[in-house]
Amino acid sequence: MEEAPFPDYPLAELHAHLAASISAEVLWQIAHELGIKLPKKEFNEFRDYITLSPARRMKMETYFTKVYTPILDRLSSGTHAVEQATYHTMTGAYRKNNITLIELRNNPMKHNREAEFDLDHIIMAMLRGMERALLECPGLSAGLIFCMDRAASVEDNAIIVEKAIKYRSRGVVGIDVAGPATPEFKLSEYAWLFRRARRAGLHSTVHSGETAGTSDMWEALQYVTPERIGHGIRAAYDEPLMHELAAKGVVLEVCPMSNIATKAVKDMQEMKWILRTLIRNNVKFCINTDWPEMIEGCRLMRQFAMLRDAGLLTEGELAACNQTAFKSSFIPAPGGLDSYL
Ligand SMILES: [Zn+2]
Repeated sequence: MEEAPFPDYPLAELHAHLAASISAEVLWQIAHELGIKLPKKEFNEFRDYITLSPARRMKMETYFTKVYTPILDRLSSGTHAVEQATYHTMTGAYRKNNITLIELRNNPMKHNREAEFDLDHIIMAMLRGMERALLECPGLSAGLIFCMDRAASVEDNAIIVEKAIKYRSRGVVGIDVAGPATPEFKLSEYAWLFRRARRAGLHSTVHSGETAGTSDMWEALQYVTPERIGHGIRAAYDEPLMHELAAKGVVLEVCPMSNIATKAVKDMQEMKWILRTLIRNNVKFCINTDWPEMIEGCRLMRQFAMLRDAGLLTEGELAACNQTAFKSSFIPAPGGLDSYL
């Protein structure tokens, strides 16, 4: 008898980056429409070149300099590319992975070819892509999160927040901070921007606690009080922090396969220990992809099945993670929360 598919319920994806959510086929198509030179001439070689897998793990910094910035960001830049990328990513998630709620994040400044394109045109193109997807997928809820960049200046990041506020009524639902730590970046200088965003009705999350220690998570809680934290897995090694997260009800957007592929954790055993420790300490978390198309086996349905089959989480725990994702989404539910669940 054939095994029943798992999971067989609609999923919510809260942590996926636009540039790493575009399928290799769509990237290939965009490159050929725009005549952009690629590092490989054969499609299969190109797909393998941009994809991480257990056999091809790479440190995050290396992947960023070799693949993410020069290929993924570049191919999803400009009004045509960014509209196609947003549209195909959202419709693909809905049709192929039973994702009925998707929050897709990006930094619009990474998609404007170093200011060659006007930022408002880039954002409008993303919104067009999202609206086309919503029109074609009546059961889908979608929203955009704009990411500030730790490598950028406070002035540039303030522009990102202003744009998020400007397009809030069109489907931008939150702000985020992403990118590796830099000596110049101080989250304490961003408290006012987060306050401003919150007053304008935006939600917030912060990438932290992914690789080195938990000081960035403590700072996030202290200065910008986000409702969710991107990754946050290092909290499992910091008991006082877990108490704080549980008490405040902060939800961790955990991305297990991404952490393994980028060597943020050693292996599945360490990931299992982290997830079990978070559960034991009542820290709420949901399962996400981060880079669904750039990591083999990372797509959400597959990842749910893998986490069950490898004994990291039970079916009941996975269903609870999915409920947590729907409940902590930044996208307002059309008919109240019950309409999602
Ligand atoms: Zn991320």
